Amino acid sequence: MGKQEEFVLRALEERDVRFVRLWFTDVLGFLKSVAVAPAELEGAFEEGIGFDGSAIEGFARVYEADMLLMPDPSTFQILPWRGGDGPATARMFCDVVMPDGSPSYSDPRYVLKRTLARAAERGFTFYTHPEIEFYLFKDTPQAGVDPVPVDRSGFFDHTAQSHGSDFRREAITMLEAMGISVEFSHHEGGPGQQEIDLRYADALSTADNILTFRTVIREVALSQGIWASFMPKPFTTHPGSGMHTHVSLFEGDQNAFYEAGAEYQLSQTGRRFIAGILRHAPEISVVTNQWVNSYKRMMFGGEAPSYVCWGHNNRSAMVRVPMYKPLKGASTRVEVRTLDPACNPYLAFAAILAAGMKGIEEGYELPREAEDDVWALSERERKSLGIDPLPKNLNEAIEVAETSELLAETLGENVFEYFLRNKRAEWDEYRGQVSAFERDQMLPVI
Ligand code: GLU
Ligand code: MG
Ligand code: MG
Repeated sequence: MGKQEEFVLRALEERDVRFVRLWFTDVLGFLKSVAVAPAELEGAFEEGIGFDGSAIEGFARVYEADMLLMPDPSTFQILPWRGGDGPATARMFCDVVMPDGSPSYSDPRYVLKRTLARAAERGFTFYTHPEIEFYLFKDTPQAGVDPVPVDRSGFFDHTAQSHGSDFRREAITMLEAMGISVEFSHHEGGPGQQEIDLRYADALSTADNILTFRTVIREVALSQGIWASFMPKPFTTHPGSGMHTHVSLFEGDQNAFYEAGAEYQLSQTGRRFIAGILRHAPEISVVTNQWVNSYKRMMFGGEAPSYVCWGHNNRSAMVRVPMYKPLKGASTRVEVRTLDPACNPYLAFAAILAAGMKGIEEGYELPREAEDDVWALSERERKSLGIDPLPKNLNEAIEVAETSELLAETLGENVFEYFLRNKRAEWDEYRGQVSAFERDQMLPVI
């Protein structure tokens, strides 16, 4: 047994842990959990804990249902919202493996690990730093009832006794107790809308952290008698919730995107990486923006992108090269603004990395930067500048994804097929719905 495993076994005793939750996610990024007694853990580190994979969305066909969870000891944490003064509950993220010990091709964490390993073969480590937006509502959602935000504040507002800042303080304290560093937090543009930015970390840790983050935020909201949601666009008339993600590649301790004296201090590797993300953005959109609702965030401006372009000081651009600290080489990075916080972060990060790496491998040329507000241009002007639209809805996203070699290769056959089948079913169900819009438009006049 390794040092990390021994550390976990010791911590179980010292912290009087009574339950250990083993966490993993299904293909859509929903957290799954089984609790085991601490006494099971030594065996679990050696041989895994068996579970019925066919019960999990997208995991296995019924005849190959036996799967194992292998806990990752580096992710061990006590859950601060469980236990109080009594015995503690801990959690670890797990890799899912087949009975013969090979990785499960349906495990999103494995999809990301495999993509990271490919980048590592070329000497790169992938870092990410998400800006996570979400809404706080007064009540638990009820079918047919409009949600009511907890406040009426806006961007960066600081108001006395604000529900948002109390909420953020408690949530951030809890995140930090779980080893998740928060860099920045503020009220966002919509009423009740918040943003919390995590400090950059390697992409696997960040993806694990996002899963933890979504759980912590919802737990803290419940404990305060309110409701948190990561739905990308809960209101027609207020901004949606995005998860802009800053990405960078390191070679050892050198930032591979940095080149002193280059335009925006951006190296050729950085330029090609952006070119890859731009060229493949439409085909990976189904993963970065996986819901019918995701596409409603990306159509009215509101600082969510609708077009494939990049810029440095242009918040209508899909990819931005921020200039906050232009002289600090290590912080050169690229902000990808498509992602929303209801994505599966393992799959979304894998797709972004694969697209960027393709740009590097094939030596893609970076197109000219978009200097204008691209929403204000006419369709013709955009065309003449070579600025293409992103998919306008889930259906368009599925259609381009279906023809994508890059996506098929990155997700692997199992996840690719299951994912697209699931999304096709969602779209078909949605397009058959008769909406309030149609009734309001038609019943009074015809
Ligand atoms: N809420 C915007 C979005 O959906 C982002 C606002 C911002 O620039 O932080 O992407
Ligand atoms: Mg924001
Ligand atoms: Mg941003």
